[in-house]
Amino acid sequence: MTGKKKCAHIAAVRTVRTAKRRECEECVKIGAPWVHLRTCQECGVTLCCDSSPNKHASKHARASGHPVIASAEPGERWLYCYPDDAIGTY
Ligand SMILES: [Zn+2]
Ligand SMILES: [Zn+2]
Ligand SMILES: [Zn+2]
Repeated sequence: MTGKKKCAHIAAVRTVRTAKRRECEECVKIGAPWVHLRTCQECGVTLCCDSSPNKHASKHARASGHPVIASAEPGERWLYCYPDDAIGTY
């Protein structure tokens, strides 16, 4: 998470989507643990971060082409764009 580039994907996020439930939708299905949660800004799904064993958020970004996630951790207010490796705050 060192990106400093400006990215059009983050700039295009008007209303930040937040987690509907504080759990990784995919880990829940397979009974796997997760570390941190991220919410896709394109479709609103909440998935686990790259510190988690299954890295569902980045897998989702690659498979779906949805570029931007928001941290779903309490008190954290940042967005991250996978293709541009860019961070934004809100
Ligand atoms: Zn971007
Ligand atoms: Zn997961
Ligand atoms: Zn998505």
